[in-house]
Amino acid sequence: MLATISILGISITQIYWVKRAFGLKEAEFDRQVNTALFNVAAQIFSLNNTPSPANNPVKQISTNYYVVMVNGEIDASLLEFLLRSEFEKRNIQANFEYGIYDCTHEKMVYGNYVKLSDKVSKREQNPNLPKWVNAGYYFGVQFPNREAQILNQMGIWSFSSAVLLIVIIFFGYTLFVILKQKRLSEIQKDFINNMTHEFKTPISTIAVSTEVLKDSSIVQHPERLLQYATIIENENKRLKQHVERVLQMASLDKEDVGLKKEIINLHDVIEDVVNSMLVALNEKDGAIHLHLDALSPEIKADRHHLTNVIFNLVDNAIKYCSGKPVITITTAQQPGGIKLTIQDNGIGISDENKKRIFQKFYRVPTGNIHDVKGFGLGLHYVKQIVEAHRGRITVNSQPGNGCTFTLDLPTA
Ligand code: ADP
Repeated sequence: MLATISILGISITQIYWVKRAFGLKEAEFDRQVNTALFNVAAQIFSLNNTPSPANNPVKQISTNYYVVMVNGEIDASLLEFLLRSEFEKRNIQANFEYGIYDCTHEKMVYGNYVKLSDKVSKREQNPNLPKWVNAGYYFGVQFPNREAQILNQMGIWSFSSAVLLIVIIFFGYTLFVILKQKRLSEIQKDFINNMTHEFKTPISTIAVSTEVLKDSSIVQHPERLLQYATIIENENKRLKQHVERVLQMASLDKEDVGLKKEIINLHDVIEDVVNSMLVALNEKDGAIHLHLDALSPEIKADRHHLTNVIFNLVDNAIKYCSGKPVITITTAQQPGGIKLTIQDNGIGISDENKKRIFQKFYRVPTGNIHDVKGFGLGLHYVKQIVEAHRGRITVNSQPGNGCTFTLDLPTA
């Protein structure tokens, strides 16, 4: 906040000084032009042998337009020559337009645009321009590029403004990086809290169970012995699963996923995963339907990672279901590969969350069903692995109506 306020302060000061400098340059430009035009008028009066008028013949009509009352003979080539030489003398380098007007009819009788880069320094070089001999004429001078000319003279100010702009861009970028890091560190803190919690529950359950097993009288109750041994076994499995998840992620963090590709039968992999999940499914009274219709299910893929991918998707389909999970896994042949869909009847995902579920550590902030634990790593891993196989994963879902994850897996 302080840095932003300082940068804002510096920017406002810079704008103020640039404006002031511009104002000063403008005033100087006006003064120079007035003097130059006054001198031109004086020379014309002396050439016409008419006395100079009592009041100043030069009038500034607007910021970049001046008129000079001459009331005498005006020779366009002489006028152009005098204007050029007076402006050059005063270092006024802006191109200009001049016009000669007839006083009685308020009409322009002649006009020309003069580019200072076209060097014409002698009056004789432009002798064909018209001439008005009778009195009653005035001329006007306009600078179409006045602002550009003034800005051109503000070199140091342009430089300091450019430097300030670079500072502001760097500052904005630094702020962006800091905020991003802050968000990442918050996400990681959440992850560590979450993980500690996930590990604490099985560890304490195992501790309590071993306490019971240490009691020598338990030998007399073999059924209780079996019950506690099973608890320890299950909790141990849970711990193993957690460790697996974290390891999956760690394997992704190494730059190269290092796929060990071989020809595998996708249907075999799906069936293996489904068999390993039957216990979890039965616990929730669920069912899995397989429609493995792909005609050539052989694909070139990493068996270990692909097994994890299907495991994660089926595991989520069981986890994120408030009733009895009914899961349908379908495969179908499509040009270049196989389409695999995993459909469930779970809680579904809203459109807003659909965009984010594949991000690392992202978990849908569910109010009522947050007894389902996880690290928010599963789908990120799934997406990385599918993409490493040059495949694609998409999700289709309506909150309350389940989800369908579709994987397009290339054969080779
Ligand atoms: P985790 O399950 O460990 O939280 P995931 O990356 O596997 O992490 O999933 C991210 C989030 O996506 C989950 O928190 C969950 O809210 C949502 N999600 C994933 N799969 C499903 C599903 N089949 N049905 C509903 N929500 C899901």
